[in-house]
Amino acid sequence: MTVHAHNNEGIRNAVEAGVRCVEHGTSLHESTAALMAARDVALVPTFAVVEQLLHDTAGAGLTASTRDRVESVREQMTKALAAAKHAGVRIGLGSDLIGPAQGRRGKELRLRAALETPMEAIVAATRTNAEILGLSGQVGVITPGAQADLTLWNGNPLEDPELFSDPNNAVLVIQAGQIVKDLR
Ligand SMILES: [Zn+2]
Repeated sequence: MTVHAHNNEGIRNAVEAGVRCVEHGTSLHESTAALMAARDVALVPTFAVVEQLLHDTAGAGLTASTRDRVESVREQMTKALAAAKHAGVRIGLGSDLIGPAQGRRGKELRLRAALETPMEAIVAATRTNAEILGLSGQVGVITPGAQADLTLWNGNPLEDPELFSDPNNAVLVIQAGQIVKDLR
């Protein structure tokens, strides 16, 4: 069971009620982060949807005053990520993007790479996300016996995580051993 929650009280209530994962986690306090770590509740911050709202405030139907609140969400979410990391919370990666924006989910990797390191962002999106979904060892890792889900990028994302912002940079996608996209 997982929950979308922004404020600290809501997050704490959900954790105490037994959820396994919290999406957003915007105003996560240190004490709640410690509780999440103790109960092995994962966090999935969602920076891409925040960036999208800031980038296209009018398109999202938001007023200027709402934009200020979204700015504050970005600031708080950055602090929440740091608090969760410090507490030892398992941290996955998700975007919360919906509709036509879904093709740009890779932006979350670029944003997390800037806040952490590109490798940490990649591990969160692959191995940690698989752990959160209960698919440990099946996907999210390159190892004998695992399902072959692989992506070949047009460059080295460890040096240039901006690559993740454009799906055209994913030149080869293999799902369960089958090529499903090939731009080579
Ligand atoms: Zn949500």
